[in-house]
Amino acid sequence: MKDCVFCKIINKEIASEIVYEDNYTIIFKDLNPKAPVHLLAVPKKHIDSVMDIKNLSAEEFLAIFKAIADTAKELNLDADGFRIVTNTGLAAGQSVNHLHFHVLGKRIFSWPPG
Ligand code: 5GP
Ligand code: ZN
Repeated sequence: MKDCVFCKIINKEIASEIVYEDNYTIIFKDLNPKAPVHLLAVPKKHIDSVMDIKNLSAEEFLAIFKAIADTAKELNLDADGFRIVTNTGLAAGQSVNHLHFHVLGKRIFSWPPG
C-alpha cells in the first residue's frame, strides 16, 4: 500500500535489519527498541490491523506465528520467556497501520502492561 512504511520495508524501499523472511512474513528489528531484543513480525500482505484479519488466509496467519516461534527459538528467547504484543487503534498506541506483532525479549516484563 502506498505511503505505508512497513510495505516499503517489505519492498526494500526502506532499509531494515531483517532477521527472518519467507513468502508470507517478514521479521525485522524495531527502529526504536523497547527491550534488548525488539522485533516486528509483519505479514507481507497489507492489512491495517487485527480488525481486518478476515482478509488474511489461514495459511498467511499461521505463517506469522510459525515465523515468530522459529525466530524465538533461534534467538533463544524461549529460554527465559518473551512477549508478543499487537497494539490496535489509538488508545493502545498503534502508530503504523499495517498489522504487526512486537516480539520483545531479554528482559523482565511487568504485568499489567502500561
Ligand atoms: P506501533 O506503535 O504501531 O505499535 O508500532 C510501530 C513500531 O514501528 C514502533 O515500535 C516503531 O519504533 C517502529 N517503526 C516505525 N517506523 C519504522 C521504520 O522505518 N523501521 C523500523 N525498523 N521500525 C519502525
Ligand atoms: Zn503496509
